[in-house]
Amino acid sequence: MDMRFSPEELAFRDEVREFIANNYPHELKGARRGEMSKEDILKWHRVLYKKGWVVPHWPVEYGGTGWTITQRYIWNEENARAETTPLLPFGLSMVGPVIYTFGNEEQKKRFLPGILSGDDWWCQGYSEPGSGSDLASLRTKAVRDGDHYIVNGSKTWTTLAQHADWMFCLVRTDPDAKQQEGISFLLIDMKTPGITVRPIITMDGSHEVNEVFLEDVKVPAENLIGEENKGWTYAKFLLGNERSGIAGVARSKKAIERLKKIAGAELVDGTPLMKTGEFSRKVAEVEIDLSALEVTELRTLAAESKGRGPGPEASILKIKGTEIQQRITELAVEAVGNYALVEAPRLETTGNEFVPGPEGSQGTAQDYFNMRKTSIYGGSNEIQHNIIAKMVLGL
Ligand SMILES: Cc1cc2nc3c(=O)[nH]c(=O)nc-3n(C[C@H](O)[C@H](O)[C@H](O)COP(=O)(O)OP(=O)(O)OC[C@H]3O[C@@H](n4cnc5c(N)ncnc54)[C@H](O)[C@@H]3O)c2cc1C
Repeated sequence: MDMRFSPEELAFRDEVREFIANNYPHELKGARRGEMSKEDILKWHRVLYKKGWVVPHWPVEYGGTGWTITQRYIWNEENARAETTPLLPFGLSMVGPVIYTFGNEEQKKRFLPGILSGDDWWCQGYSEPGSGSDLASLRTKAVRDGDHYIVNGSKTWTTLAQHADWMFCLVRTDPDAKQQEGISFLLIDMKTPGITVRPIITMDGSHEVNEVFLEDVKVPAENLIGEENKGWTYAKFLLGNERSGIAGVARSKKAIERLKKIAGAELVDGTPLMKTGEFSRKVAEVEIDLSALEVTELRTLAAESKGRGPGPEASILKIKGTEIQQRITELAVEAVGNYALVEAPRLETTGNEFVPGPEGSQGTAQDYFNMRKTSIYGGSNEIQHNIIAKMVLGL
């Protein structure tokens, strides 16, 4: 594999770099998602939509950019480099591809424009109390009643449902069939009577996740994706995309760069922490793992460009990517000690406040706590190990 960029690719990189420098909303620099308003979260999305760059990974006919795999790689790298806010995956990477792959023409016309523009905010209604890892045991039921389904049940851990206009939802439509064969994929308007959203506050103090209760919610039958009772197929397709997007290689590179800067400024008996053998060895280990993951991700992307969608290999990206993300936050806490507890300045601060600790270290503990989620969501890492054992190694 030739890892060098061609002159055209370097020119593309410069174009992207300049675009981000000139167009990224400056007020969002360094912002954490937990403290951003709905409009803040959507600002960068809207800029990219206007430019036509909001879904580089979609087919051109639906709004994709037609970029090569290398261009998409460069795009991710440059966004990480500039520390732009990641776009929300629920519409762009999850339900969007399900709709253009399995939806009918009417559904494509109705839903894709709102996903692209950001006007429709989506959330993911998969997990339920008691049905997380064992997702196929889900109990939220949808009963057909003329032109509608009547939905009853509850979902949990629903990320950013407090802002959502729509939820893509797995529901049980045949209670008598084998678990996987009685599930359907429904699109539910969050304004429908009977839906209640309650916040769950996580240990970093943020409100990202929710419980969603559905009581006699009337959903038009035309909101069913594909065939009734075939929802598990679409659900698995979506999870494959979710897992490959979770690797976060470019952003981990940036996080290591930041970690090195902090550890370079922290002194241990007069020596920068980064120059002590023990700490630099730990950082080097993570960097090596990240380089290996990067090559694995490039191989997956190359296979995808030849029409081979992300298969069980996506589980490898998920496990390694999230382990690395967590490891970096653990090293950051180790590097700054007590200063980790200093909260990150909020978006609206003036910049004149005194913040103790090395530059860039504020919010380290918040990041550490927040990153614990990565080995749980998108299917826990233990479950990913099971998938690799079964589907990749044939054990
Ligand atoms: C921050 C966050 C955001 C989330 N966002 C969403 C969202 O937007 N929408 C959504 O639908 N879901 C979301 N989830 C839910 C997530 O997908 C589930 O938490 C996850 O699938 C695990 O399910 P569970 O929490 O029920 O844990 P359980 O399934 O109860 O698992 C508990 C523990 O047992 C282990 N375990 C379970 N079964 C096995 C097994 N067979 N072999 C080995 N170990 C096993 C698990 O790995 C885990 O460590 C989110 C979760 C988090 C933490």
